[in-house]
Amino acid sequence: MLNLILFGPPGSGKGTQAAKLVEKYNLVHISTGDLFRREKKTNSPIWQEVQSFIDKGELAPDSITFRLLKAEMDKTPDAAGYILDGFPRNVNQAASLDVFFAEEKTAVSLLVELIVADQEVITRITSRGKIEGRKDDQNPEIVQNRINIYKSQTSPVANHYDKVNKTKRIDGIGTIEEIFERICGVLDAETV
Ligand code: AMP
Repeated sequence: MLNLILFGPPGSGKGTQAAKLVEKYNLVHISTGDLFRREKKTNSPIWQEVQSFIDKGELAPDSITFRLLKAEMDKTPDAAGYILDGFPRNVNQAASLDVFFAEEKTAVSLLVELIVADQEVITRITSRGKIEGRKDDQNPEIVQNRINIYKSQTSPVANHYDKVNKTKRIDGIGTIEEIFERICGVLDAETV
């Protein structure tokens, strides 16, 4: 299996790149942010539990997030691998994922981090907020909070996988196609 963690701050282009990677490598894309937004559409009990966190730009509780992720993976037992986008978001989630994959006789293959500077991230998120109507993308304080949480809680996940030589960092500035080529270069070099 090829299990890729597509990593980077909010607005670094993970979703865009994941959509292209899925086509090329025949993987299943799971975005935990998208899973939460799906719950929002039906105002489900899960959404009611996590709404206050998400609307403030904070992380949803690990247990709920992991349950949602596993339920989504269970829908595709024959997957050739997964592209995880927005997960793991802290070291505890990474540890749970490692245990779960080990039980399934698989593992994280690579973590690819898209490096994008704060100011560029803020510009991109603000424009996405207007287009997609995302509450958590429109308020500058909430956007800043998400960036802060990325730095304090999420970026240690890259170090976690660095310890086992699975983290690759690439420049996340450029055209969609240029960044895609960079990611493919890393994947192809690591998975031959
Ligand atoms: P995203 O679309 O990945 O930016 O996610 C939107 C929001 O959903 C985040 O700001 C968090 O509030 C929540 N969220 C998404 N993924 C996770 C995760 N792995 N753990 C906790 N909260 C998450």
